[in-house]
Amino acid sequence: MRTGDGAKTLEVVRDVASLRAKVREWRRQDETVGLIPTMGALHDGHLALVKAALDSCDHAVTTIFVNPTQFAPNEDFEAYPRDEADDLSKLQALSADVAFVPPVEEMYADGFSTSVAVSGLTEGLCGATRPHFFGGVATVVSKLLLQALPDKAFFGEKDYQQLQVVTRMARDLDIPVEIVGVPTVREADGLAMSSRNWYLSPEERAAAPALYKVLCDIAAKLSAGQTSAAAIAEGRTVLEAAGFGPIDYIEVCDASSLEPLETADRPARVLAAAHLGRTRLIDNVAVG
Ligand code: AMP
Repeated sequence: MRTGDGAKTLEVVRDVASLRAKVREWRRQDETVGLIPTMGALHDGHLALVKAALDSCDHAVTTIFVNPTQFAPNEDFEAYPRDEADDLSKLQALSADVAFVPPVEEMYADGFSTSVAVSGLTEGLCGATRPHFFGGVATVVSKLLLQALPDKAFFGEKDYQQLQVVTRMARDLDIPVEIVGVPTVREADGLAMSSRNWYLSPEERAAAPALYKVLCDIAAKLSAGQTSAAAIAEGRTVLEAAGFGPIDYIEVCDASSLEPLETADRPARVLAAAHLGRTRLIDNVAVG
């Protein structure tokens, strides 16, 4: 809906039938739709996805849903930051059209018993330490894509493995959507923006940019011909000295298959996940 000055009024939709009705109305007028799945606690990284959607589609549907199936029982589902009013005002400020904010029962009816599993790509990196995670993500994202049937769906490179998994899933299941990757938005000191940065104490926040710096150093060493093993070993030492631990992984991988690489002899990505206090941070950079 547009106001007199041309800005749109954000509509908050909480059920699938209303979302479908909304999208049907747009489609009837040959208008395109971009979907931005999020778990809320929106920051400028999320908003870059919304802007990318508004730049290339007529309408943007941002979903806000803290998906219980991608959290293990010992993880931070309950503590995950939630601030719906603030999220909605940020979306309104961008003139985004619709926020889809379903309650858990709308997404997972009683007796829900289906899951989407992407093999191979999900086994290493975050899949090794969070084995439940990508099943939860693939299932909820396939549901959101089938609910909204967007032309494009926008995902951050910050969660690089997730971007590859969702791209593969949409291709394998013939879901008619273009998956668009958006570069990572960072704080001025290099730290990748993340809802989980809220958990960091002031001391941890000061140490956190070391993760990005180490990844950049490893990428530079690989570009200069060093092997992955040597560059990663040095990076590990620096991260531990900065207070990180345990380090779940630091790996150099093929940029699309995510297979580990000994040297950067093709398009490659350096990826890491490491704990800083009670916060698990992830990040990645391209080599070259
Ligand atoms: P989340 O709410 O953490 O599940 O993230 C929702 C989407 O926003 C995912 O596609 C993320 O990759 C993306 N995202 C999160 N942080 C950033 C960031 N700093 N830069 C770009 N995209 C991001």
